[in-house]
Amino acid sequence: MSPPVTRVHSDAALPKSADVVVIGGGIAGIAAAYHLAAKGHSVAVVEKGYIAGEQSSRNWGWCRQQNRDPRELPLAQRALDLWGGLNEELGAETGFRRTGLVYVTTSHGDLDRWAGWVDKAREMQMRSHVLSAAEASAMAPGSTGHWIGGVHSPTDGRAEPALAVPALAEGARRRGATLHQDCAARGLETSAGRVSGVVTEKGTIRTSAVLVAGGVWTSMFCRHHGIDLPLAGVRSTSFFTAPAPKITDGGISTPDVTLRRRLDGGYTVGISGRGMLELTPQGLMYARPFWRTFRKRYKLVTIRVGRSFFDGPEATLNWRNDTVSPFERMRTYDPPAQEKLVDFALKRIGELYPELADLKIVHRYGGLIDFTPDWIPVISAIDKLPGLYVSAGFSGHGFGIGPAAGRLAADIVAGDPPIVDPHPYRYGRLVDGTDLGEPGLM
Ligand SMILES: Cc1cc2nc3c(=O)[nH]c(=O)nc-3n(C[C@H](O)[C@H](O)[C@H](O)COP(=O)(O)OP(=O)(O)OC[C@H]3O[C@@H](n4cnc5c(N)ncnc54)[C@H](O)[C@@H]3O)c2cc1C
Repeated sequence: MSPPVTRVHSDAALPKSADVVVIGGGIAGIAAAYHLAAKGHSVAVVEKGYIAGEQSSRNWGWCRQQNRDPRELPLAQRALDLWGGLNEELGAETGFRRTGLVYVTTSHGDLDRWAGWVDKAREMQMRSHVLSAAEASAMAPGSTGHWIGGVHSPTDGRAEPALAVPALAEGARRRGATLHQDCAARGLETSAGRVSGVVTEKGTIRTSAVLVAGGVWTSMFCRHHGIDLPLAGVRSTSFFTAPAPKITDGGISTPDVTLRRRLDGGYTVGISGRGMLELTPQGLMYARPFWRTFRKRYKLVTIRVGRSFFDGPEATLNWRNDTVSPFERMRTYDPPAQEKLVDFALKRIGELYPELADLKIVHRYGGLIDFTPDWIPVISAIDKLPGLYVSAGFSGHGFGIGPAAGRLAADIVAGDPPIVDPHPYRYGRLVDGTDLGEPGLM
């Protein structure tokens, strides 16, 4: 069942033209629209379902620099700066609070990795501390876990996915963007070898610039235009609890479960690292670039043939722009929670936090995460088709960096100086034979 989201209304009429059309109303597309509109561009956002209906409302709400891949840390740092001012800038509640985030562990391997990361992060002016066993226990009060240490990032925080993306969408609209829900983009029109329009189910919008921010559907959309974008989906399970005793004000990650306190006093619970890998035509197509990811994670994921094999975001389907597309056949991808993971998490929380033994679940849901082979997003122009840009493949951590990722996408589309070095996010690395190395950090 989809988690709740504040709904925004759609604008009445689809514009005939726009400077930029953004495909996808998740945080990547909405934040880009917000920044593009601030630069004075006319922007239309088309969303096949409702704003924040997919990953952007299903995430845990962690806004962190902690444990970021160094290639992504500059974007995470800019994002935390932006989050800090958003409530005031938007005049609306995003739920962002700079509460700090804590990880605790029973593994010496984790501690060694975190110590190495903290050293690197210090060079990039990021404050984060490795915790001793006593400090970890003090940071996880009430826990029965035998933590040998942890890591704490005091400048990180958390926000409410259900509020933040709709608030940003309204902010984009105030800046002049138009929002169109239940409006799938079926494909592009081109003229003289470059983008000239977007064909939606409600009509065509003339434009010379299109940003595809379609989350797990982005690869399918690109393939429709002969553009190869290796993405692989991993299904994750989470749940919301009813208000419960406070064990943290922010987020705490243990080796088995993560808990993030919401504004309403309940918790958003995630199951660390575990999930489901569905065998899909797209997955088989990109088996090779994802081999290293598979090797790293297969012990924690269940593998099975899923619905996506036939009609989900990773099916290999053909359609014409004047016929119903797969995007409007599945308005919101809403995979079910894996019940055995929910049971496992509830049991572990009860063991670790006796005062949370009677947690009541109010929503349980699945979410498909769009991984790239190196777990770094693509925020980039696609040189093969001038006028086409992509912002996708956030690999399970796009919510926290969303505001800055949107700003970077807007800078690239507008041809302005980029907020951070865009090189790590270039599309070409995924298809030009670049050695992507081991997948980064989540
Ligand atoms: C369970 C879970 C926990 C997570 N926890 C965190 C966390 O704590 N912190 C963090 O930073 N990140 C987290 N993430 C990752 C984060 O949610 C995503 O990286 C981020 O939301 C991606 O945003 P997006 O806009 O790229 O994609 P999405 O939010 O998936 O949005 C894409 C949108 O595009 C639309 N679309 C697709 N194709 C078309 C089309 N052809 N026409 C029109 N519309 C289209 C879709 O309907 C969808 O609404 C988590 C993800 C999950 C699933």
